[in-house]
Amino acid sequence: MQTTPSPFTFSGGIHPSYNKELCSGAPIRELPMPARLVVPLSQHLGAPAKPLVNVGDTVKAGQLIAEQNGFISAPVHAPAGGKVAAIEETLTAAGRTCAAIVIEPDGSQEWELLPRIADWRTADKKDLLAQIGAAGVVGMGGAGFPTRIKLSPPADKPIDTVILNGAECEPYLTSDHRMMLEFAREIRVGAEIIRQILGAKSLRIAIEDNKPDAIAAMEQAFQGIDGDVAVTVLRTSYPQGSEKQQIYSVTGREVPRGGLPMDVGCVVENVSTAYAVYDAVANGRPLVRRVISVTGDAVQQPSNLLAPAGTLYSDLVAACGGLRGKPAKVISGGPMMGFTVSTLNVPTGKTASGLLLLSAGKISSYTSQACISCGRCVDACPMGLNPSELSQCIEADDIESAEQIALMDCVECGCCAYVCPAHRPMVHHMRRGKALVMAKRSAAKK
Ligand code: SF4
Ligand code: SF4
Repeated sequence: MQTTPSPFTFSGGIHPSYNKELCSGAPIRELPMPARLVVPLSQHLGAPAKPLVNVGDTVKAGQLIAEQNGFISAPVHAPAGGKVAAIEETLTAAGRTCAAIVIEPDGSQEWELLPRIADWRTADKKDLLAQIGAAGVVGMGGAGFPTRIKLSPPADKPIDTVILNGAECEPYLTSDHRMMLEFAREIRVGAEIIRQILGAKSLRIAIEDNKPDAIAAMEQAFQGIDGDVAVTVLRTSYPQGSEKQQIYSVTGREVPRGGLPMDVGCVVENVSTAYAVYDAVANGRPLVRRVISVTGDAVQQPSNLLAPAGTLYSDLVAACGGLRGKPAKVISGGPMMGFTVSTLNVPTGKTASGLLLLSAGKISSYTSQACISCGRCVDACPMGLNPSELSQCIEADDIESAEQIALMDCVECGCCAYVCPAHRPMVHHMRRGKALVMAKRSAAKK
């Protein structure tokens, strides 16, 4: 096992203020069980899970409460034992609404776990995938793509390289950083299971050079591992954690336009997802909790909290000693790719890595102006797009033209908006345009 600097550098990107020192030194703390959990049925990409319980039922921690509903979907399990108090609509961290199962925890410690896989090294690949699927494991780095599907590429797309993503390039967020420091051994086992399922020859652990302690922890944890394994130290640059940029930085391979990592023989898995794979296989524990960074200058005690899915943001803030005055902005996730929320009455889910609370002093308010054709957004876009042209097409509702100039390749990283001197709301335009394209495609299918 060796450590090497990243051999390649992706084009574009930015260097924002990272502000990670607010909670990078805060050890993971388990949140006291909240009085009420609002467990969303859509904590993943694809169709929402289908409820299996009724109001008034008593459930155990880990019990399956909603089943996978279609190929791209994932089951949902109870994060705590207690009573089902309601099934109702909730606002999600991504700013949408979905149905949720409301559980009032009763303090019971009894878990309903999946049967453990005794020895994953000799286990059949199908059994490992079935266990990961049954545990509801999804990508925890943001998108929530069901992991069992990601680890089942078609036979004509062999995977030779697994990249374990420990970049955590979003400013402020430190949950993956703390996971690497505190659960390095477990992450190693998860990564080995992933490598075994895919039959991949190489494993790379990709970490930015602003986390030397995490690099050291992972170097130590992976000592003695067989095969072509290395820690790749990435230059600190946003969006280094984005899949396509990371694949290029680590391997020099370019994912084609409209393509997927498997098209260039790679699978990228987040370090927290690797932990969830370990927990599902070795302990039979479904994915019902995760570490969340609650940070920003408007919270008393920035913290990394291990919280059950369905915890309301208000309970996270209370566990951090409350607010420092009224926050001017609350963001679900990080400042670059997160979603602004208007209430703390929003529950966490499997993909919620952070809650950012900022005071007025940290917020710049501008009026958006017309594009001055300076070209800065083109230089900053890591996907090689023309954000100025794209946003103008979308504003004019010319979705066909936007699609032709590769709108769907936009990874919503926000680099274009960050550098724009006219303060144009580029990410808003891109998200709106992409939603219109998806609606058009789905209508055409029907
Ligand atoms: S948000 Fe989209 S268009 Fe803007 S820089 Fe990122 S990838 Fe490029
Ligand atoms: S950075 Fe802003 S002003 Fe400059 S070209 Fe892009 S959209 Fe126009």
